[in-house]
Amino acid sequence: MPSLASAAARPLPHVRSALRAALALVAPADCAGCGAPDIELCADCRRRLEPRPLVAALADGTPLVSGLDYEGTARDVILAFKQSGRWRLAKPLGPALAAALRLAAAGPPAGAAAVAVLAVPPSRAGRRRRGYDPVDLLVRAAGVRVSKPGFRILRSSVQQKSRGRAERLSGRLGSLGCSGRWAGARVVIVDDVTTTGATLQEAVRAARAAGAIVLGVCCLASTPLRSARL
Ligand SMILES: [Zn+2]
Repeated sequence: MPSLASAAARPLPHVRSALRAALALVAPADCAGCGAPDIELCADCRRRLEPRPLVAALADGTPLVSGLDYEGTARDVILAFKQSGRWRLAKPLGPALAAALRLAAAGPPAGAAAVAVLAVPPSRAGRRRRGYDPVDLLVRAAGVRVSKPGFRILRSSVQQKSRGRAERLSGRLGSLGCSGRWAGARVVIVDDVTTTGATLQEAVRAARAAGAIVLGVCCLASTPLRSARL
């Protein structure tokens, strides 16, 4: 039978996670890439987040630019950013998204005033769980503002991890709407991580249905859609 002392030393899981969250506010975290102590992100891991733009295409041929490969250090840092409440990591991730945005809009962000940036919205569950919108933070860290109003979720898509790309595409059809006056507007659509491209494809459909001219889509990191490194 556990003694009172040992029970106190091993708090319940939800208490542990609350303690960890409280501690993260006062103590520096360990490096999100390699775990080096007392630093948000070490210099070596920061270097591994330097932009490595890749150009691919969605199923309908829309150009897709990603800033990083979703693997190794980049994947670890992005997971810490999205899943562990470490929103400050948006800053070191910003340059990779900025590079992808520039290419997708075919011009530097500062000179692309006529190009609006539409962001894929977080799921309601994701927003509730995190308390912040990763894509919005990343776009800001890239030195750009998301145009609003923009996409809205018309219905939640079910988790489709086991499905193929075609099934994911059809499963998301009609899940997004696009609010605002977009007829004739030139837009670039942004997301954080792309795997099958199904969400971005649905966003392109919704933006076009609202009359927008989609120049391209981009994301911070992608997995299997790579075709050409610049
Ligand atoms: Zn590191």
